[in-house]
Amino acid sequence: MQTGARLRVDLGALAANYRLLADEAAPAARCGAVVKADAYGIGLEPALEALSGAGCKVFFVATPEEGARARDRLAEAEIYILDGLLQGGGQEMIARDLRPVLGCTEEIEEWLELAGDGRGAAPSALHIDTGMNRLGLLADDVDRLKAQADLWQRLNPSLIMSHLACADTPAHPMNEQQLVRFERLRHRLPPAPASLANSAGFFLGKSYHFDLCRPGIALYGGEAVGNAPNPMRPVVLAEARILQVKEIRAGSVGYGAAYHCPGPRRIATLAAGYADGLMRHLGREDGAPQDSMVYIGGKPAPIIGRVSMDLITVDVSDIDPEIARRGAWAELIGPNAPVDAVARRAGTIGYEVLTSLGKRYARVYVA
Ligand SMILES: *Cc1c(COP(=O)(O)O)cnc(C)c1O
Repeated sequence: MQTGARLRVDLGALAANYRLLADEAAPAARCGAVVKADAYGIGLEPALEALSGAGCKVFFVATPEEGARARDRLAEAEIYILDGLLQGGGQEMIARDLRPVLGCTEEIEEWLELAGDGRGAAPSALHIDTGMNRLGLLADDVDRLKAQADLWQRLNPSLIMSHLACADTPAHPMNEQQLVRFERLRHRLPPAPASLANSAGFFLGKSYHFDLCRPGIALYGGEAVGNAPNPMRPVVLAEARILQVKEIRAGSVGYGAAYHCPGPRRIATLAAGYADGLMRHLGREDGAPQDSMVYIGGKPAPIIGRVSMDLITVDVSDIDPEIARRGAWAELIGPNAPVDAVARRAGTIGYEVLTSLGKRYARVYVA
Protein backbone atom coordinates (compact mmCIF):
# COMPACT_ATOMS: atom_id res chain seq x y z
CA MET A 1 0.00 0.00 0.00
CA GLN A 2 1.29 3.47 -0.81
CA THR A 3 1.59 5.75 2.18
CA GLY A 4 1.73 9.49 2.41
CA ALA A 5 4.00 9.55 5.43
CA ARG A 6 6.98 7.46 6.42
CA LEU A 7 9.25 7.13 9.41
CA ARG A 8 12.82 5.98 9.06
CA VAL A 9 14.22 4.70 12.35
CA ASP A 10 18.00 4.40 12.53
CA LEU A 11 18.60 1.44 14.86
CA GLY A 12 22.34 1.78 14.31
CA ALA A 13 22.16 5.26 15.82
CA LEU A 14 20.07 3.93 18.71
CA ALA A 15 22.68 1.23 19.42
CA ALA A 16 25.52 3.76 19.10
CA ASN A 17 23.76 6.11 21.52
CA TYR A 18 23.41 3.26 24.02
CA ARG A 19 27.08 2.31 23.70
CA LEU A 20 28.17 5.91 24.17
CA LEU A 21 26.36 6.10 27.52
CA ALA A 22 27.20 2.54 28.61
CA ASP A 23 30.92 3.11 27.97
CA GLU A 24 30.91 6.30 29.96
CA ALA A 25 29.01 4.74 32.87
CA ALA A 26 31.30 1.71 33.04
CA PRO A 27 32.97 0.22 34.96
CA ALA A 28 31.33 1.59 38.10
CA ALA A 29 27.75 1.58 36.80
CA ARG A 30 25.69 -0.48 34.40
CA CYS A 31 23.48 1.19 31.84
CA GLY A 32 19.86 0.15 31.36
CA ALA A 33 17.38 1.52 28.84
CA VAL A 34 13.95 3.05 29.29
CA VAL A 35 11.69 1.75 26.51
CA LYS A 36 8.28 2.86 27.80
CA ALA A 37 5.59 4.25 25.48
CA ASP A 38 6.63 2.02 22.59
CA ALA A 39 10.26 3.02 23.04
CA TYR A 40 9.40 6.72 22.92
CA GLY A 41 7.32 6.17 19.82
CA ILE A 42 9.92 4.46 17.65
CA GLY A 43 8.62 0.90 18.17
CA LEU A 44 9.27 -1.34 21.18
CA GLU A 45 10.30 -4.58 19.52
CA PRO A 46 12.91 -3.21 17.10
CA ALA A 47 14.28 -0.98 19.87
CA LEU A 48 14.67 -3.97 22.21
CA GLU A 49 16.50 -5.91 19.57
CA ALA A 50 18.92 -3.07 18.81
CA LEU A 51 19.54 -2.25 22.47
CA SER A 52 20.06 -5.82 23.60
CA GLY A 53 22.34 -6.29 20.60
CA ALA A 54 24.34 -3.35 21.92
CA GLY A 55 24.69 -5.09 25.27
CA CYS A 56 21.75 -3.76 27.30
CA LYS A 57 20.38 -6.23 29.84
CA VAL A 58 18.06 -4.08 31.99
CA PHE A 59 14.92 -2.45 30.62
CA PHE A 60 12.26 -0.18 32.07
CA VAL A 61 8.73 0.05 30.71
CA ALA A 62 5.72 1.87 32.15
CA THR A 63 2.98 -0.76 32.03
CA PRO A 64 2.63 -4.52 32.55
CA GLU A 65 1.38 -4.81 28.98
CA GLU A 66 4.58 -3.23 27.67
CA GLY A 67 6.49 -5.53 29.98
CA ALA A 68 4.77 -8.61 28.54
CA ARG A 69 5.68 -7.49 25.02
CA ALA A 70 9.27 -6.96 26.09
CA ARG A 71 9.41 -10.37 27.75
CA ASP A 72 8.13 -12.04 24.56
CA ARG A 73 11.19 -10.61 22.81
CA LEU A 74 13.83 -10.97 25.50
CA ALA A 75 13.74 -14.12 27.60
CA GLU A 76 16.74 -13.21 29.77
CA ALA A 77 16.51 -9.46 30.36
CA GLU A 78 15.65 -7.79 33.64
CA ILE A 79 12.41 -5.92 32.95
CA TYR A 80 11.10 -3.36 35.43
CA ILE A 81 7.56 -1.97 35.40
CA LEU A 82 7.64 1.70 36.42
CA ASP A 83 3.90 1.82 37.16
CA GLY A 84 4.59 -0.78 39.83
CA LEU A 85 2.17 -3.46 40.92
CA LEU A 86 -1.36 -2.82 39.71
CA GLN A 87 -3.90 -4.23 42.14
CA GLY A 88 -4.46 -7.89 41.39
CA GLY A 89 -1.80 -7.97 38.68
CA GLY A 90 0.91 -9.75 40.64
CA GLN A 91 0.43 -13.34 39.44
CA GLU A 92 0.78 -12.34 35.82
CA MET A 93 3.88 -10.32 36.54
CA ILE A 94 5.49 -13.21 38.37
CA ALA A 95 4.52 -15.63 35.59
CA ARG A 96 6.31 -13.39 33.10
CA ASP A 97 9.24 -12.61 35.38
CA LEU A 98 8.48 -8.87 35.39
CA ARG A 99 9.74 -6.75 38.25
CA PRO A 100 7.40 -4.10 39.63
CA VAL A 101 8.86 -0.84 40.89
CA LEU A 102 7.14 -0.75 44.27
CA GLY A 103 6.43 2.72 45.60
CA CYS A 104 3.99 2.44 48.51
CA THR A 105 3.44 0.16 51.48
CA GLU A 106 0.22 -1.37 50.09
CA GLU A 107 2.10 -2.46 47.00
CA ILE A 108 4.90 -3.94 49.06
CA GLU A 109 2.43 -5.86 51.23
CA GLU A 110 0.57 -7.17 48.19
CA TRP A 111 3.85 -8.26 46.56
CA LEU A 112 4.92 -10.09 49.74
CA GLU A 113 1.54 -11.79 50.09
CA LEU A 114 2.02 -13.32 46.66
CA ALA A 115 5.18 -15.01 47.89
CA GLY A 116 3.26 -16.72 50.67
CA ASP A 117 3.92 -16.96 54.38
CA GLY A 118 7.41 -15.99 55.39
CA ARG A 119 8.87 -16.70 51.97
CA GLY A 120 11.10 -14.44 49.93
CA ALA A 121 9.31 -12.36 47.30
CA ALA A 122 10.06 -12.35 43.58
CA PRO A 123 12.52 -9.65 42.48
CA SER A 124 11.30 -6.06 42.52
CA ALA A 125 12.60 -2.53 42.71
CA LEU A 126 11.86 -0.15 45.53
CA HIS A 127 11.07 3.44 44.59
CA ILE A 128 12.00 6.15 47.07
CA ASP A 129 10.48 9.59 46.61
CA THR A 130 13.23 12.17 47.11
CA GLY A 131 11.22 15.24 46.18
CA MET A 132 9.20 14.61 43.06
CA ASN A 133 6.10 13.89 45.18
CA ARG A 134 4.82 11.56 42.55
CA LEU A 135 5.55 7.85 43.00
CA GLY A 136 7.67 6.31 45.72
CA LEU A 137 8.05 5.89 49.47
CA LEU A 138 8.47 8.98 51.61
CA ALA A 139 11.02 9.11 54.43
CA ASP A 140 8.49 7.93 57.04
CA ASP A 141 7.58 4.92 54.92
CA VAL A 142 11.27 4.07 54.60
CA ASP A 143 11.67 4.21 58.35
CA ARG A 144 8.66 1.95 58.89
CA LEU A 145 10.13 -0.52 56.43
CA LYS A 146 13.48 -0.30 58.14
CA ALA A 147 11.86 -1.15 61.47
CA GLN A 148 10.63 -4.47 60.04
CA ALA A 149 13.88 -6.28 59.33
CA ASP A 150 12.15 -9.57 58.47
CA LEU A 151 9.98 -7.80 55.93
CA TRP A 152 13.00 -6.27 54.25
CA GLN A 153 14.70 -9.62 54.16
CA ARG A 154 11.71 -11.14 52.41
CA LEU A 155 11.44 -8.26 49.96
CA ASN A 156 15.17 -8.15 49.19
CA PRO A 157 14.74 -5.75 46.23
CA SER A 158 17.09 -6.03 43.27
CA LEU A 159 17.13 -2.24 42.94
CA ILE A 160 16.51 0.86 45.05
CA MET A 161 15.71 3.82 42.85
CA SER A 162 14.53 7.40 42.82
CA HIS A 163 13.74 9.90 40.06
CA LEU A 164 15.07 13.43 39.53
CA ALA A 165 12.65 16.29 38.96
CA CYS A 166 14.96 18.98 37.55
CA ALA A 167 17.95 17.21 36.01
CA ASP A 168 17.40 18.94 32.66
CA THR A 169 18.42 22.15 34.44
CA PRO A 170 21.90 21.26 35.72
CA ALA A 171 22.20 24.31 37.99
CA HIS A 172 18.87 23.64 39.73
CA PRO A 173 19.44 23.23 43.49
CA MET A 174 16.95 20.38 43.63
CA ASN A 175 19.40 18.03 41.87
CA GLU A 176 21.87 18.13 44.73
CA GLN A 177 19.06 17.98 47.31
CA GLN A 178 17.63 14.84 45.76
CA LEU A 179 21.09 13.28 45.51
CA VAL A 180 21.69 13.89 49.21
CA ARG A 181 18.22 12.64 50.18
CA PHE A 182 18.66 9.52 48.07
CA GLU A 183 21.99 8.75 49.74
CA ARG A 184 20.52 9.28 53.18
CA LEU A 185 17.35 7.26 52.66
CA ARG A 186 18.91 4.31 50.91
CA HIS A 187 21.48 3.99 53.70
CA ARG A 188 18.68 3.58 56.23
CA LEU A 189 17.92 0.28 54.50
CA PRO A 190 20.11 -2.78 54.02
CA PRO A 191 22.33 -2.50 50.93
CA ALA A 192 20.87 -3.04 47.46
CA PRO A 193 21.95 -1.83 44.01
CA ALA A 194 20.90 1.80 43.48
CA SER A 195 19.69 3.87 40.52
CA LEU A 196 18.94 7.59 40.25
CA ALA A 197 19.86 8.98 36.83
CA ASN A 198 17.59 9.40 33.82
CA SER A 199 19.27 10.83 30.69
CA ALA A 200 19.68 14.32 32.10
CA GLY A 201 20.81 12.90 35.45
CA PHE A 202 23.44 10.90 33.59
CA PHE A 203 24.98 14.13 32.33
CA LEU A 204 25.06 15.62 35.84
CA GLY A 205 28.11 13.44 36.43
CA LYS A 206 29.33 10.20 37.93
CA SER A 207 28.03 10.95 41.41
CA TYR A 208 24.54 10.48 39.97
CA HIS A 209 25.25 7.15 38.25
CA PHE A 210 25.24 4.79 41.28
CA ASP A 211 24.95 1.14 40.13
CA LEU A 212 22.56 1.53 37.21
CA CYS A 213 21.63 4.42 34.89
CA ARG A 214 18.17 4.69 33.31
CA PRO A 215 18.42 6.82 30.17
CA GLY A 216 15.44 7.18 27.87
CA ILE A 217 15.29 10.27 25.67
CA ALA A 218 19.05 10.45 25.00
CA LEU A 219 18.97 6.97 23.45
CA TYR A 220 16.40 8.21 20.93
CA GLY A 221 18.52 11.22 19.99
CA GLY A 222 16.52 13.75 21.98
CA GLU A 223 17.94 16.55 24.08
CA ALA A 224 18.37 15.58 27.70
CA VAL A 225 19.63 18.95 28.89
CA GLY A 226 18.19 22.24 27.70
CA ASN A 227 20.46 24.83 26.04
CA ALA A 228 23.42 22.48 25.75
CA PRO A 229 25.03 20.74 22.77
CA ASN A 230 23.40 17.37 22.15
CA PRO A 231 26.02 14.61 21.79
CA MET A 232 23.50 11.95 20.71
CA ARG A 233 22.86 10.79 17.16
CA PRO A 234 19.37 11.44 15.73
CA VAL A 235 17.32 8.27 15.40
CA VAL A 236 14.15 9.42 13.65
CA LEU A 237 13.48 10.79 10.18
CA ALA A 238 9.79 11.62 9.56
CA GLU A 239 8.66 12.55 6.06
CA ALA A 240 5.40 13.26 4.27
CA ARG A 241 4.59 13.42 0.59
CA ILE A 242 3.32 16.39 -1.31
CA LEU A 243 -0.23 15.50 -2.37
CA GLN A 244 -0.92 18.60 -4.40
CA VAL A 245 0.67 21.92 -5.34
CA LYS A 246 -1.35 24.95 -6.33
CA GLU A 247 -0.75 28.56 -7.26
CA ILE A 248 -3.05 30.92 -5.44
CA ARG A 249 -3.47 34.60 -6.17
CA ALA A 250 -4.34 35.68 -2.66
CA GLY A 251 -6.66 34.63 0.14
CA SER A 252 -6.57 32.50 3.22
CA VAL A 253 -5.27 28.98 3.69
CA GLY A 254 -6.88 26.23 5.74
CA TYR A 255 -9.36 26.00 8.62
CA GLY A 256 -10.59 29.14 10.24
CA ALA A 257 -9.10 31.19 7.42
CA ALA A 258 -6.47 31.86 10.05
CA TYR A 259 -3.63 32.70 7.68
CA HIS A 260 -3.80 35.10 4.75
CA CYS A 261 -1.29 35.00 1.93
CA PRO A 262 0.12 38.45 1.36
CA GLY A 263 0.21 37.89 -2.41
CA PRO A 264 0.42 35.16 -5.05
CA ARG A 265 1.89 32.01 -3.58
CA ARG A 266 2.59 28.39 -4.42
CA ILE A 267 1.13 26.16 -1.74
CA ALA A 268 1.91 22.47 -1.25
CA THR A 269 -0.38 20.25 0.78
CA LEU A 270 1.39 17.39 2.61
CA ALA A 271 0.03 14.06 3.82
CA ALA A 272 0.56 14.43 7.58
CA GLY A 273 -1.27 16.31 10.30
CA TYR A 274 -1.88 16.38 14.01
CA ALA A 275 -2.94 12.73 13.95
CA ASP A 276 0.67 12.08 12.95
CA GLY A 277 2.12 14.12 15.77
CA LEU A 278 2.41 17.48 14.05
CA MET A 279 1.10 19.63 16.86
CA ARG A 280 -1.42 22.34 16.01
CA HIS A 281 0.90 25.00 17.37
CA LEU A 282 3.17 24.38 14.38
CA GLY A 283 0.68 26.07 12.07
CA ARG A 284 1.24 29.73 11.35
CA GLU A 285 -1.68 32.08 11.84
CA ASP A 286 -1.82 35.76 10.93
CA GLY A 287 0.43 37.79 13.19
CA ALA A 288 2.33 34.78 14.52
CA PRO A 289 5.99 35.62 15.09
CA GLN A 290 7.68 32.46 13.92
CA ASP A 291 7.51 29.98 11.07
CA SER A 292 7.87 26.27 11.53
CA MET A 293 9.61 24.71 8.57
CA VAL A 294 9.51 21.48 6.68
CA TYR A 295 12.34 20.79 4.22
CA ILE A 296 11.90 19.82 0.60
CA GLY A 297 15.10 18.93 -1.23
CA GLY A 298 16.87 20.42 1.77
CA LYS A 299 15.13 23.80 1.29
CA PRO A 300 12.89 25.26 4.00
CA ALA A 301 9.17 25.70 3.43
CA PRO A 302 7.13 27.40 6.18
CA ILE A 303 4.02 25.69 7.50
CA ILE A 304 1.18 28.15 6.94
CA GLY A 305 -2.41 28.00 8.11
CA ARG A 306 -3.71 25.63 10.75
CA VAL A 307 -2.51 22.06 11.00
CA SER A 308 -5.37 19.70 10.08
CA MET A 309 -5.82 16.13 11.26
CA ASP A 310 -4.28 14.61 8.15
CA LEU A 311 -2.75 17.53 6.27
CA ILE A 312 -0.50 20.53 6.51
CA THR A 313 -0.05 23.32 4.00
CA VAL A 314 3.38 24.77 3.29
CA ASP A 315 4.55 27.72 1.22
CA VAL A 316 6.85 26.45 -1.54
CA SER A 317 7.04 29.69 -3.52
CA ASP A 318 10.82 29.86 -3.03
CA ILE A 319 11.52 26.26 -4.05
CA ASP A 320 12.07 25.04 -7.61
CA PRO A 321 8.74 23.60 -8.86
CA GLU A 322 10.66 20.61 -10.20
CA ILE A 323 11.66 19.80 -6.63
CA ALA A 324 8.48 20.82 -4.77
CA ARG A 325 6.19 18.74 -6.95
CA ARG A 326 3.39 16.24 -6.37
CA GLY A 327 4.80 13.02 -4.89
CA ALA A 328 7.99 14.59 -3.50
CA TRP A 329 8.91 13.85 0.11
CA ALA A 330 9.18 16.61 2.67
CA GLU A 331 11.26 16.26 5.84
CA LEU A 332 9.16 16.93 8.95
CA ILE A 333 11.67 15.74 11.56
CA GLY A 334 15.26 14.98 10.62
CA PRO A 335 18.70 16.51 10.09
CA ASN A 336 17.27 19.90 9.11
CA ALA A 337 14.46 19.83 11.63
CA PRO A 338 15.73 18.16 14.83
CA VAL A 339 13.00 16.77 17.05
CA ASP A 340 13.73 19.30 19.80
CA ALA A 341 13.63 22.24 17.40
CA VAL A 342 10.22 21.08 16.18
CA ALA A 343 9.14 20.64 19.78
CA ARG A 344 10.18 24.17 20.74
CA ARG A 345 8.22 25.57 17.83
CA ALA A 346 5.20 23.61 19.01
CA GLY A 347 5.62 24.82 22.60
CA THR A 348 6.49 21.37 23.91
CA ILE A 349 9.40 18.95 24.41
CA GLY A 350 11.00 16.32 22.19
CA TYR A 351 9.51 13.55 24.34
CA GLU A 352 5.98 14.61 23.43
CA VAL A 353 6.76 14.97 19.74
CA LEU A 354 8.30 11.48 19.54
CA THR A 355 5.58 9.76 21.53
CA SER A 356 2.88 11.49 19.46
CA LEU A 357 4.08 10.31 16.06
CA GLY A 358 1.18 7.89 15.82
CA LYS A 359 0.49 4.70 13.95
CA ARG A 360 0.03 5.84 10.38
CA TYR A 361 3.62 6.20 9.25
CA ALA A 362 5.10 3.48 7.11
CA ARG A 363 7.99 2.53 9.34
CA VAL A 364 11.33 1.56 7.94
CA TYR A 365 14.00 0.28 10.30
CA VAL A 366 17.60 0.49 9.19
CA ALA A 367 20.54 -1.14 10.95
C1 LIG B 1 10.91 8.00 31.86
C2 LIG B 1 11.79 7.70 33.01
C3 LIG B 1 13.17 7.66 32.84
C4 LIG B 1 13.86 8.07 31.57
O1 LIG B 1 13.84 9.47 31.49
P1 LIG B 1 14.55 10.28 30.31
O2 LIG B 1 14.43 11.69 30.73
O3 LIG B 1 13.78 9.98 29.07
O4 LIG B 1 15.95 9.80 30.22
C5 LIG B 1 13.95 7.25 33.93
N1 LIG B 1 13.36 6.93 35.11
C6 LIG B 1 12.02 6.99 35.31
C7 LIG B 1 11.47 6.64 36.64
C8 LIG B 1 11.20 7.39 34.27
O5 LIG B 1 9.88 7.48 34.47
